[in-house]
Amino acid sequence: MTLIESFEKLDYSDALESSEEAQNWLDSHGRRFGQFINGKFESRSDADLIASLNPSNGNLLANIEVAGPNQLKKAITAARNALPAWQAMDGHGRAKVLYALARLLQKHTRIVSVLETLDNGKPIRESRDIDIPLAIRHFYHHAGWAQIQEREFSEYKSIGVVAQIVPWNFPLLMLAWKIAPAIAMGNTLVFKPAEQTPITAMFFAHLCEQAGVPDGVINIVNGAGTTGAALAAHEGVDKVAFTGSTSVGRAIRKATAGQNKKLTLELGGKSAFVVFEDADLDAAVEGLVDSIWFNQGEVCCAGSRLLVQAQIADKLHTKLKKRMQTLRQGTPLNKSVDIGSLVSQTQYQRVDELVQNGIEQGGELYQASTTQPDGNYYPPTLITEIDSSHPLAQEEIFGPVLVSMPFRTQSEAVTLANNSRYGLAASIWSENINRAMDVAPKIKAGVIWINCHNQFDASCGFGGVRESGFGREGGKEGLYEYLQPKLLKKVAKSKPIKVERQSSKENIDRTLKFYIGGRQVRPDGGHSIATYKANGSLATWVGAGNRKDIRNAVSAATKASNWSNQNGHLRAQIIYFFAENLALREDEWIKRLQEICGLTKKQAKTEFNASLSRIFSYAAWADKYDGAVHNAPYRGVTMALPEAIGVLAQIAPEEKPLISTISLIAPAIAMGNRVVLIASERYASIALELVQTLETSDIPAGVVNILTGNKTDLAEQLAGHAEVDGIWCWAEPETVAQVEATSAIDLKRLWVHIDGDRDWLDSQQGEGLEFLRNATEVKNIWTPYGD
Ligand code: NDP
Repeated sequence: MTLIESFEKLDYSDALESSEEAQNWLDSHGRRFGQFINGKFESRSDADLIASLNPSNGNLLANIEVAGPNQLKKAITAARNALPAWQAMDGHGRAKVLYALARLLQKHTRIVSVLETLDNGKPIRESRDIDIPLAIRHFYHHAGWAQIQEREFSEYKSIGVVAQIVPWNFPLLMLAWKIAPAIAMGNTLVFKPAEQTPITAMFFAHLCEQAGVPDGVINIVNGAGTTGAALAAHEGVDKVAFTGSTSVGRAIRKATAGQNKKLTLELGGKSAFVVFEDADLDAAVEGLVDSIWFNQGEVCCAGSRLLVQAQIADKLHTKLKKRMQTLRQGTPLNKSVDIGSLVSQTQYQRVDELVQNGIEQGGELYQASTTQPDGNYYPPTLITEIDSSHPLAQEEIFGPVLVSMPFRTQSEAVTLANNSRYGLAASIWSENINRAMDVAPKIKAGVIWINCHNQFDASCGFGGVRESGFGREGGKEGLYEYLQPKLLKKVAKSKPIKVERQSSKENIDRTLKFYIGGRQVRPDGGHSIATYKANGSLATWVGAGNRKDIRNAVSAATKASNWSNQNGHLRAQIIYFFAENLALREDEWIKRLQEICGLTKKQAKTEFNASLSRIFSYAAWADKYDGAVHNAPYRGVTMALPEAIGVLAQIAPEEKPLISTISLIAPAIAMGNRVVLIASERYASIALELVQTLETSDIPAGVVNILTGNKTDLAEQLAGHAEVDGIWCWAEPETVAQVEATSAIDLKRLWVHIDGDRDWLDSQQGEGLEFLRNATEVKNIWTPYGD
């Protein structure tokens, strides 16, 4: 045989990672695990069991006990009891515990990697080189945040007891993403792994014992969806952090409505992988391997929709098919394998069914090898000849299945990328940085990768928009999800007004109109509501808005999208001009605040001046709330850019109507949002009296829209409206609950409050970064450099 012939026949030999240590560890626990509560393992002989299997061969790894209601309660109580001491511990004390967890995980990398591969079916190469190192990095990074917490987050405190629920695709990594920031910021928690993959969480529980985690700070309960549902809805929980499917995320949003719980949802995706004609096609092919065949495609942000510029589509498909033939699939513990098993037989069947049903509706299927159901090996799959309405282009498959669609122009690429109910991530492939940076802000997603895909790091926030959920994990933005402001002080409601009997002729012609699309308009239904002065006499009439008025206002706000694309300098000037115009009406406003709100002249002056100052503050912030550049461990930079949420509905507080209205509108528009505000009911006229000033301040039509009427009804309409992207709500508990439940329809981002939670006059409570953060979503754009 010639050298050339030998070279051509070279093949990989098996390089099996030993599972002996891992199997011994499972044996040493009798292949049975209970719950980890208050620093101890608890077992119940009569517990229901879930078998955790190795998906590549069906062998039993361990039996997992399902936590019963009493154990769930016990875990939550343990977390509650551990909370005061953990909160009171200084940052350094907590940092030491996180650091110890990182060190211990590092020390046990090999066994943890093997356990992960055995339980999930992912190749050992990935668990060893990606999952576990990233999990370790998360604990180190957050040990650092705990250390500097007192300085960096001096105005914040922990939330309390957190329920954390994760899926099966990155079991230990998801655990790290959840637990590290939560405990770093002083919360205690109850964590539930997925029923298919609980093993590494059990190993981690043992490390907690060794790392000196105080009893009760970390509790881990096992079970299936019903356990997750009971945990999320439990009244002893202050916050729920969930990663999983959009349908379960929606169920949790509904189940927790009205419970006054903070919620973050990291949900599904159908991320675009956009290849322009000027891309390095070989790099793009390797990028696709990392994007859709990494972790068998069981990745929420997998680039499962390939959008390729038409003139290079055939060339790219040819290269891709050639590369697919060289992908090695098989025993996950084999170190020379690229693709392992799907997590379970159920998942295998789900993927296969979606593909089979989908292909019946059209499309050309290419699979480099045949399916092997015995080991749950689903082959790398490419589907072409479909359009963006095809179910396979819309549904999340969560398997190694790539669909490809051509586009002609850059704007068509953006339209196609955004043609999804999801908005988790996307990658852009082009050798032209100008083009890539132009497209990145236009794609509606929480993460954008330029010439790379599936990059993650603890320093960079991760999370989606639209039905991919809300909230971020990682980065500084991820820490705020586990914090709440320290300074808020509840305020009492004003006494009810004693309404005088009115003569029907009094003030009859003084009916304030809505402000919609830059015009004053009458309410659709023609109904008006009387508003009163503090002395009980009639002040003015205002409109009673209905569904049609809401539709008109949202439509006007949607059309004003150009405001979101304006630069901060321009927005700042317009907002300053608004303040300047308002200042001209000082006397009129002082008189009005005295009459309507019953303030003394001095109090009215104070509120008016504070309102002007607040507008100035947000004009100042308009060009200064900049984002960050992260120094993640790769050759590149990650830019964290705060982006406007879009159309923001605002249900205004009842008290301090001038400054509270300003406190909602000003930060929202400063960040580029368009607003539909429902005014205070008691002081409805105050928000509408701002209209004349808004009209003369160069604020484009549709950027601010103001309606009055029944807050609960109008809030309900807004929560159900598909074109509203987010809601800020200060209202009574029933209205808040309704907004939370109704918004589950498309998982709007919410910032909700029981009215009376703060003193609007106080600049620490009524103004600042908390408002700007809630007016924006952070988009992380990863830009590697070098060859
Ligand atoms: P599921 O939503 O079915 O399950 C996720 C977790 O929630 C599991 O622990 C599950 O328990 C639990 N659960 C199930 N039902 C309920 C309920 N009603 N209330 C509370 N908890 C419940 O997702 P999968 O496990 O199927 O995971 C795949 C999904 O996760 C994909 O859609 C994927 O996109 C998404 N995902 C999102 C990520 C992100 O960061 N955005 C990252 C990774 C995955 P059990 O499994 O034990 O029954």
